[in-house]
Amino acid sequence: MWFSEEATPSQLSSYSSDIAKYISQSLSDEDRFCLLTDYYTPSSDFSFPGTVFHKKNRRFQKKWLESFKWLVYSPSVDGAFCRCCALFAKGDNLGRFVTAPYKNWNNATTDMGVHQTLKYHTEAMKSADDFTSIMKEEKMDIKCQLDSNAEKQILINRQVLTSVMKTVLFCGKQGLALRGDNDDGVLKEENHSNFNELLKFRIGSVDEVLEKHLATCKPNATYVSKTAQNNVTNITGEQIRDSILSKVENARHFSLLADEATDSGNWEQLAVVLRFVDDKEEVH
Ligand SMILES: [Zn+2]
Repeated sequence: MWFSEEATPSQLSSYSSDIAKYISQSLSDEDRFCLLTDYYTPSSDFSFPGTVFHKKNRRFQKKWLESFKWLVYSPSVDGAFCRCCALFAKGDNLGRFVTAPYKNWNNATTDMGVHQTLKYHTEAMKSADDFTSIMKEEKMDIKCQLDSNAEKQILINRQVLTSVMKTVLFCGKQGLALRGDNDDGVLKEENHSNFNELLKFRIGSVDEVLEKHLATCKPNATYVSKTAQNNVTNITGEQIRDSILSKVENARHFSLLADEATDSGNWEQLAVVLRFVDDKEEVH
């Protein structure tokens, strides 16, 4: 156990990658990866605190970080660590550089040279290398997965936009008004605008049967001729009329309006309007 004597509180608050804060703690792989690859490095104008050794003031030298690639400086304890040993070394009596900060600036280069010949240091360096490689590969895997998911989503979005654009173009080509009472948000069952109904139609009809029929049918049996369209219109009209008549027959009150006019072809046209009140007293 050690305590910081040199660094000021204002310095401490800004050092988030200071390894001394993580010694002897159980760390996640992500934390270890950060400490190995994004460790604290003193800025060029950093003022290392001095310590008196045999009447001479000594301090940490930044050039040591160049000479010993495993070395990191901790500003919170004014001490040096081997970041590989601190995170990966195994065994008892590990001591300075590993579980405690190294502070003997009077004999630093010699001690650092000795540290890097130790067996547990060599093993820790290899473990750190292997660990970093694995973590980098995993990060690449995750990035590839994210890229692949993003590509799939872009394709889906394009397909959706194609459907919407085809529907808009269809209405325009046919002179159909697009807007309903409330076109905001998702499709609503009660919104019967041309646009909404066409979209519902697309959703409900992945019509492979019709597609195959039109590709293979005989010219006199397409079922989409003007005669067929008229037949469908008439049958639908009859069914709607029967449905309305049955409601009128059950209505408590109804009225019948009829008016006659001559069209531009000199044909008499008779318009018939029925109004009735249903069981819920709603007027139709
Ligand atoms: Zn080491």
